[in-house]
Amino acid sequence: MNNQHIADLLFPDVKESIGDIKSNYPDRPSGQLVTRFAPSPTGFLHLGSLFAWMVPWLVARQNQGVFILRIEDTDQNRKVENGITFMSQGLRDFWIEPDEWRISETEDRWDYWSYLQSERLDYYRVFLKHLVATGYAYPCRMSSDEIDQVRQIQKVSKQMPGIYGNYSQRRWWDEQEIIAKIASGDAYVIRLRSPGEYGQKRTFKDVIRWDVNMQEHFQDSVLLKSDWYPTYHLAHLVDDYLMGTTHVIRAEEWLASVPLHVQLFECCWLQAPQYAHLAQLLKTDDGKKRKLSKRKDPEADVKWLVSEWFAKQWILEYLMTIVSPNYEGWQQENVDAFFADHLFELSGMNKSWALVDIVKMEQVNREYLSRLTDAALYQKCFQWSEVYHADFHALLQTNPDYMTAAMWIERHTPKDPKRFARYNDVYDQLLCFDDDLFNGLEYPDFSEKLTQADAEAFLADYKDEEVFLSIRDDVDDTSWDALQARVQEWFAHLREIGQKHKFAINNAAFKEWWWKWKTWDLAMLLRIVLCKAWRTPDLYSVMKVMGKERVLHRIDTFLNA
Ligand code: GLU
Repeated sequence: MNNQHIADLLFPDVKESIGDIKSNYPDRPSGQLVTRFAPSPTGFLHLGSLFAWMVPWLVARQNQGVFILRIEDTDQNRKVENGITFMSQGLRDFWIEPDEWRISETEDRWDYWSYLQSERLDYYRVFLKHLVATGYAYPCRMSSDEIDQVRQIQKVSKQMPGIYGNYSQRRWWDEQEIIAKIASGDAYVIRLRSPGEYGQKRTFKDVIRWDVNMQEHFQDSVLLKSDWYPTYHLAHLVDDYLMGTTHVIRAEEWLASVPLHVQLFECCWLQAPQYAHLAQLLKTDDGKKRKLSKRKDPEADVKWLVSEWFAKQWILEYLMTIVSPNYEGWQQENVDAFFADHLFELSGMNKSWALVDIVKMEQVNREYLSRLTDAALYQKCFQWSEVYHADFHALLQTNPDYMTAAMWIERHTPKDPKRFARYNDVYDQLLCFDDDLFNGLEYPDFSEKLTQADAEAFLADYKDEEVFLSIRDDVDDTSWDALQARVQEWFAHLREIGQKHKFAINNAAFKEWWWKWKTWDLAMLLRIVLCKAWRTPDLYSVMKVMGKERVLHRIDTFLNA
């Protein structure tokens, strides 16, 4: 059988050789390191994928290399609308700017185009023709029934399952049969005619895992599917060769495919890139470790993490702790440094797995937010809310100084400096400071604690007292000591007025005189009047930020309600 003849029959229109297409591209400078991230445009960003983005980007960045974003859209079932834009925009949002990439649904940036696999179908055909012509691939039209039969035989005779060697009934078709099959128009796939043997072990190099001993590849794997799209394996060979990838850094799940991938490069007489397989992200569930699951674990979804909880930078910093065990120490010594400037060695990375712990993530996020100045926190909230929380964004826009001041409350005191775990917590705190949003809230029902008449009598009195002198703007009470002194002064005053209205100053007085309420009930009342909430941060600070006029106005609003 003449392989070249079969190749010509299968691909009559393919005239170029692998060398021809390669020479269409500019040569990369010698020694240049090239990495890539190659997601399917599924519209879902898994935390593990973000990790698999970040590492090749860091490696390229730290070695003056090139980082490519290539979209692998040949699996038509996994495609979603605008999935490409979602991926490329996602990268930019995380400051991961590729050097070469698919910028949008239609546009490429740089010379090694196309960065979208479905536009590279002609290239795959050139490689396939080469493989068929050299005897390393063949057309196969085994039906699923035939494949099942083979599996059955293998099961009974306890052989390795799969299509390989003599189990591939179409491995050695004769030419006439092929001509007839092609003419019949029936669908077929193209399989590798693997030169490997079952039982033969080989050692493969992995930059992270060092030497990995595995069975050499011996299956006749499918390279071209019957829909004429390549399988991932063929696409990997073609794309990474033509784009000049030097380091394929990818998820652990691809480690098992290394023997096949190396074999494909060998069948084309090409040099395979270096491989590095990342540690898997696991979580503990019921005391056992398992894979972080897209379906079960919300924290696997980066979009959820960002929209609900975490500052983007912080997510990357968290992943940095997985990339490098020295990151946390380095970060503490270089507080203002960009996380990506932390140098690390791929070969020193964790080999097996890394645990993702949402509780630790939350703690570290609190830590991160507490480190920010009020102005920086305002900026972060501003950027985040622009995308995820329109009401919050509008709130920040209306009165930046006032809102920044409201963020200050308790963050700089030993009382609760880490009060915010997520941006939504900031919104919850700021909400009542805005007059419109405040007006939209209902007063909680406090009738079990206090009668309306008592509340009104006290408030009318409270309003007339010069108590608000204690929230004078000319007094600097921003230090913890000064603030505490002012809070005490204010509370003493509250007590005094309370006593006039038979609010007991403590438990003893409460029991002895059978007074109905305690001063604390008054603080509760003020929280309701000023914030329409049972719980607020330090009330004195709230009043200070709101200012005397607004406080008086809110008391009036309550009295007139
Ligand atoms: N498209 C593959 C994936 O999404 C890419 C794997 C690779 O990096 O080669 O898992």
